Amino acid sequence: MKILLSEQQIQERVGKMAEQVNRCYGQRPLTIVGVLTGSVMLLADLIRQLTMPLRVGVVQASSYRGTSRGKLTINSDLMPDIRGRDVLLVDDIFDTGHTLVEVKTLVSDLGPTSVRSAVLLRKKDRQAVSAEPDFVGFDIPDEFVVGYGLDYHDAFRNLPYVATLEPEDISQEPA
Ligand code: 5GP
Ligand code: MG
Repeated sequence: MKILLSEQQIQERVGKMAEQVNRCYGQRPLTIVGVLTGSVMLLADLIRQLTMPLRVGVVQASSYRGTSRGKLTINSDLMPDIRGRDVLLVDDIFDTGHTLVEVKTLVSDLGPTSVRSAVLLRKKDRQAVSAEPDFVGFDIPDEFVVGYGLDYHDAFRNLPYVATLEPEDISQEPA
């Protein structure tokens, strides 16, 4: 495994993202919707630095089996009432963009005032949709990454940094 983004780099950048979000919304009440499970780290680090009146909800979106994409399923049972609210979706990574577009469509149907999105990572050359996330932490090359919420077969989410998996990591049985 090779470290791509250190804990310090991530913490500094998330601080800057929080400043941008604070500037964007001022004191307007905001509902953060984290996309489980990969967003948990960014969600926790970001919301601690937000200064507007805040609600927090989650949806679950899962599309990955190992390192290849499967069918996307979204579970919105835990979503708070967002009618008439400003909503900020938070996810770990914008890869093809399909997940965020589908979650955004689902959320938009529930009558929010606005829907924006924030992601820690974006794989620039992989984008397959026209929509862009509003707040982006880092643009990264097209390599499979783990850590800071991102998993490989549900392992490695707890790493405080982001690392790329080497071929030998992928062929091994995950912990
Ligand atoms: P998209 O729908 O944008 O193609 O994929 C977004 C989702 O795929 C992310 O929320 C994340 O769960 C997963 N994903 C995409 N790229 C990676 C990666 O490099 N590593 C990991 N662990 N998950 C990824
Ligand atoms: Mg995800």
